[in-house]
Amino acid sequence: MSKLRIGVLGGGQLGRMMALAGIPLDLDFSFYESTPDCPSARLGPVFGDNNNSTASLDAFIDSADVFTYEFENIPAAWVERIAARKPVFPGVKSLATSQNRLNEKALFDRLGIPTARHAAIHSEADLRAAADAIGLPLVIKTVTMGYDGKGQFVLREAAQIPAAWAALGAQAPLMAEAFVSFTRELSIIAVRDQAGAVRCYPLTQNVHHHGILSHSLAPAPDISTDTQASAARHITDIMKDLGHVGVMTLEMFDTPSGLVANETAPRVHNSGHWTIEGAPCSQFENHVRAVAGLPVGDTRCPRPAAMLNIIGQHPARADVLAQPEAHLHFYGKAERDGRKIGHITVTADDRATLDARIRALAAVLPNTMALPKN
Ligand code: AMP
Repeated sequence: MSKLRIGVLGGGQLGRMMALAGIPLDLDFSFYESTPDCPSARLGPVFGDNNNSTASLDAFIDSADVFTYEFENIPAAWVERIAARKPVFPGVKSLATSQNRLNEKALFDRLGIPTARHAAIHSEADLRAAADAIGLPLVIKTVTMGYDGKGQFVLREAAQIPAAWAALGAQAPLMAEAFVSFTRELSIIAVRDQAGAVRCYPLTQNVHHHGILSHSLAPAPDISTDTQASAARHITDIMKDLGHVGVMTLEMFDTPSGLVANETAPRVHNSGHWTIEGAPCSQFENHVRAVAGLPVGDTRCPRPAAMLNIIGQHPARADVLAQPEAHLHFYGKAERDGRKIGHITVTADDRATLDARIRALAAVLPNTMALPKN
């Protein structure tokens, strides 16, 4: 059997968990990351330097056979440089679409996927025009480089237009979108292999606190088969249109009139971390299988599962591991306010037991503002 090395652009926890899933399949990994002691460093050589020089990128390209990335806010030029020499999955089209919210919305519109009404904003006058045409409140977002709610302004009244422009105008182009009164936030994660076969995980319910994911429930409670089927159809249509290979995530709002698409990520996603212990084949294994040209695996969630993010401060290992069916993942990152430094997955036979386990874990986690308490 010939050896295959996967090169991952980025060396954070997502790259680390890809490698942890791929190593048992006898896949090797290398990483491109400017910080040598990054979370992935234990699992393969790290290339890259402080200037992200072309020489370091070329050495990284030499190091592996096939490439992927763990974060979409990377220069498309890096991916194009790799693609000129070796295969990269997902391809440049998936990356370019997810890097630009206007392109993403245009794709949703073209595929008939419901999304919030929106407009491109280049000036304060455009903001006034969008407020008139779409109505208030509006969510103003940067078109590129946004994540975890960074670069956003909720415009509730017309008097705030100058303030919104003052806050974000320097980062124009912007987009304005109708504020969606959602009942909850959902995501669907799917994988597409090199032959075009698609498998979808069940919809996951996500709870955020100050723009950062706090915890996820899988499968999302009380989802009809129609809703799951329409989410699966949307993400399948997107992946097919882009010729996507690997894992993709579609974030959506659940509303009384149905699902509303918010954004895509061309990669494994925090809301899919529960799949490591909660699904027969995790999002990480499925991603590396697709990138390596292998068949993709089972995406069911046979028992209720939850994922709790560890944010800012580590809990005591023993306190977490004393809880039944709790699985601890530390990322090897230093503690810092608001930083994702690990997660916990917990599973149970039924939802009531799962809820009790979540409450018990909330009691031993340092930052659990959004979690239910006893
Ligand atoms: P995003 O960067 O688009 O994922 O947005 C970050 C968070 O802001 C989302 O998870 C939502 O909680 C909220 N949000 C984004 N867009 C909207 C919208 N159009 N209406 C209501 N809330 C939104």
